[in-house]
Amino acid sequence: MGVKIWVHAEVFEGEIADVAFELLSKASVLAKSIGEDAKVEATLVGCGIESKAALLAEYGAVTVHMADDSSLRLYSPATYVHVLAGMADAHKPDIYLFGATAVGTSLAPAVAARLKTGIAAHCVDIHIGGEKELVALVPSFGGKVIGEILCPVRRPQMASVKPGVLVKKSPAPVPVNIEKQELSSLKLNERPDVSQLEPVKTERHPPEGLPLKEADVVVCGGFGIGGSKNWQLLEELAQSLGGAAACTRPAVDEKWCEEHIMVGTSGQSISPKVYLGFGVSGATHHVCGMSKSGVVINVNQDAEAPIFDVSDFCVKADANSILPLLLDAVRPDGKADRRE
Ligand SMILES: Cc1cc2nc3c(=O)[nH]c(=O)nc-3n(C[C@H](O)[C@H](O)[C@H](O)COP(=O)(O)OP(=O)(O)OC[C@H]3O[C@@H](n4cnc5c(N)ncnc54)[C@H](O)[C@@H]3O)c2cc1C
Repeated sequence: MGVKIWVHAEVFEGEIADVAFELLSKASVLAKSIGEDAKVEATLVGCGIESKAALLAEYGAVTVHMADDSSLRLYSPATYVHVLAGMADAHKPDIYLFGATAVGTSLAPAVAARLKTGIAAHCVDIHIGGEKELVALVPSFGGKVIGEILCPVRRPQMASVKPGVLVKKSPAPVPVNIEKQELSSLKLNERPDVSQLEPVKTERHPPEGLPLKEADVVVCGGFGIGGSKNWQLLEELAQSLGGAAACTRPAVDEKWCEEHIMVGTSGQSISPKVYLGFGVSGATHHVCGMSKSGVVINVNQDAEAPIFDVSDFCVKADANSILPLLLDAVRPDGKADRRE
């Protein structure tokens, strides 16, 4: 029996999330490293999704394990966990990968628990090790080291990877082979945790202002900003530059800003034309979310700050002295209007 590498293709509002194609692209690389007997397969759960299976095949899935049913129209944790764990139990994948999305971070560990295996969450990369096992790379100790996580005994070996971290290859047309999962065989109605839950609707709450992922200029504040008053200056600067404000974890913890603008392993992955950082140390947890930025400029009062290793322009200065000066320079009513 060959090695089976599974990728869960998350569906939202009828569309497959991009991270599924990124994971499938990586899974093909993993399959090559393992050898000829390895193959890539996908799981697809939802309602009216059969036509989407061909897309997964284009990215290397030779088989799509599909559960297509009106009861699966909306994401319901207990039902989805039961369906995916049931499929995995029946087909015994060796590796099972998920996107570390809002749904994936709830679903993947629950599937792992049901299968009595482990999961490496929020990985920044994955590869195949010397024993042909999955090696999951996760920032550890505040992001100062990259830990290698192995799952030597239990199967499947599971990992979740953030959207935007892996590279999506170009699609190539291939025939799709669909394995349909009949829900009746899973006896969903006999499980109290499943039958008592009925999802009603999903709602989107788009953030105000320019979405972070669409901004050409991102102004990012770290713990070195020092307080909410300075944070307001940073937001004003982002707005004046026609960009968006972003933050590190401590800025969220201090309640200067909201979590949805956090960049890094547990936040967003961004690739703006310009990243302008103030008081950001450069922990791996943050850097992995901004390393695809174009021009990177950072202001930090510590000349040894790791963020300078990934910066094109390094300004050793007090961020809070620089911020008002920059604002004066770009404000339309400022001392030195940038448009003059
Ligand atoms: C599982 C896990 C997931 C995580 N996910 C994320 C994530 O997604 N995103 C994220 O950002 N973090 C994440 N973290 C936290 C991460 O490890 C770091 O702790 C965090 O990124 C550090 O943020 P910071 O650079 O703002 O703060 P610090 O590391 O405290 O750095 C502050 C910097 O500001 C500088 N400074 C201080 N005062 C000034 C001043 N007046 N002017 C200029 N510079 C100044 C200092 O020299 C220092 O370099 C995660 C941690 C864990 C354990």
